[in-house]
Amino acid sequence: MSSKTSNGAEELTPKTKEKEDFVNDYRNRPNYCQCSICFQYYSFNEFLALKSEWVDPKKQQYGKTAICNCGNRFHKRKWAIMSRKDNYVISTVHLEIGAGNGTLDLSDHDQDYFYETMIFEKTDLTTKDFDEPLGFQIRYKTIEDAKRGHKDTYDRLENIILNPEKYPMGIIPAFCNAIKAGMEQKKTIQSSVKERLK
Ligand SMILES: [Zn+2]
Repeated sequence: MSSKTSNGAEELTPKTKEKEDFVNDYRNRPNYCQCSICFQYYSFNEFLALKSEWVDPKKQQYGKTAICNCGNRFHKRKWAIMSRKDNYVISTVHLEIGAGNGTLDLSDHDQDYFYETMIFEKTDLTTKDFDEPLGFQIRYKTIEDAKRGHKDTYDRLENIILNPEKYPMGIIPAFCNAIKAGMEQKKTIQSSVKERLK
């Protein structure tokens, strides 16, 4: 809600002001994104002000991508470590855009997780493609934590595969598992009711 002042300008009511502050905070947060090569942070406003070029000049429907002051084109090359162990690939990547922790820990509102480790099955060694990722997902804020987490994931791979519930899980697989468990529980209840009615 807003009202007009005598000179016709919009006067901000507390609610609108709050919303505007929220947007400004978001746009000026110093670590909205980070270059994957020189690791310079940019706020959203700074990111928008960077030089840009067409992703593919012949296909302008793909839009433009920003270029970091170091010359790196965003989304082109990302910092990453990949390790193979048996039929699995442990992949730790830099996300470029700061993200939430990605897990069911909803008390953590931080949006500056820039690294993520996932595990993919790799059954076909003749292609570059991975199979579906396992539910495992862990995010970090710093490169040191990411390197440590990657090594840790590699070392504990067998344990992670055997006891996935003991390790951080991405929010989407966690929800899928919860739905599956709920359906199973419903089936068990239904069949026990049927038993009793016999
Ligand atoms: Zn850079």
